[in-house]
Amino acid sequence: MSLAQRVTGVRPSGVRKIFDMVRVAKDPINMSLGEPDFDVPAPIREEAVEWTRKGFNKYPPSGGIPELREKLISHLKAKGVFCDDVVITPGVTGGILLALMATLNPGDEVLIPDPSFVMYEYQTILLGGVPVFIDTYPDFTLKEEQIRRAITKKTRIIIINSPNNPTGGVCSIQELEMVARIARETDILIFSDDIYERFFYEGESPPPCLGQLCEGVLTFGGFSKTWGMTGWRVGYVAGPKDTIDAMVTMLQYVFSGVHSVAQKAAVFALDYPTDDIIAAYRRKRDLIYEGIRDRFRVVKPKGAYYIFPEAPGGDGDAFVERAIANNLFIIPGNVFSRRKSHVRISFAAEEETVLRGIEILRKLS
Ligand code: PLP
Repeated sequence: MSLAQRVTGVRPSGVRKIFDMVRVAKDPINMSLGEPDFDVPAPIREEAVEWTRKGFNKYPPSGGIPELREKLISHLKAKGVFCDDVVITPGVTGGILLALMATLNPGDEVLIPDPSFVMYEYQTILLGGVPVFIDTYPDFTLKEEQIRRAITKKTRIIIINSPNNPTGGVCSIQELEMVARIARETDILIFSDDIYERFFYEGESPPPCLGQLCEGVLTFGGFSKTWGMTGWRVGYVAGPKDTIDAMVTMLQYVFSGVHSVAQKAAVFALDYPTDDIIAAYRRKRDLIYEGIRDRFRVVKPKGAYYIFPEAPGGDGDAFVERAIANNLFIIPGNVFSRRKSHVRISFAAEEETVLRGIEILRKLS
């Protein structure tokens, strides 16, 4: 069958390719995953079951159930994030798509720091936009000169993700203020993907975010990472009323709504404590960083649950091949980047897996 043109601009996800290999491997050391290793906490699961039993199983309102929208607005306002309204989306994945649908015209350019979460590039392409990458190597910080150089008359959006997938980097307040200043001067929209906001290991959590610094920012958040609810597909976008209204209209035609029972569970999850979860991830971050820093060129991750070292010889693909031959599954850096020098290692895994992984990484370095 002849497929639509838009399909040709989109490669299948490089992450999925590794997942498929893990599935058929015997006793794999799996450090490829972008999802937490713990199950959804039992009380949150119970809450969902209870709402199913109560018959909360019909079409939900398109923008999300009012109690979740209202609770998120209060939660974000208490954090100092500017927003008029919130829309509940099928994960942050659905949120980014809807936000791009509501704001991007064909031919518009989207600034994306490199490396970055793969979704930004391909959703931009799917909607006829043009991704423009800003290289952040070797320290993965945002540099004013580079951002300004990348801006053209067609630049419409800049997407910032902090804490970051795949680097584990967290933007300093100075970087965020710089982005806010540029956006104000040039009238560029800011998308702030804060999905890893609670996974922060270097001080008071959550770290600062762009939504606190200026109005008009679209702030993205979700339940996939913090409470392990990846399969439940609940996220949200907060921002100015007109943009959120437009997204709700788009959502009606693209997704209809977001899983009713999962939204009820999300209302409950927002109050569910996460300190123990984050403490366990901080320990794993320390383990892997201390375990490989003398053998690899690597920036200490401050957040999320990834570490992004340079591969020996600067060849991420070759290193991943050797790792997989030793039963260690990690992701080549070029899945997230124009460069192929690095690899992404996820420590969202059991401590024993992390220890086994460190052993292999040291052997191969
Ligand atoms: N944003 C970032 C930076 C991610 O790393 C991920 C998942 O890996 C997502 C968004 C997708 O989140 P969701 O499960 O809410 O669609």
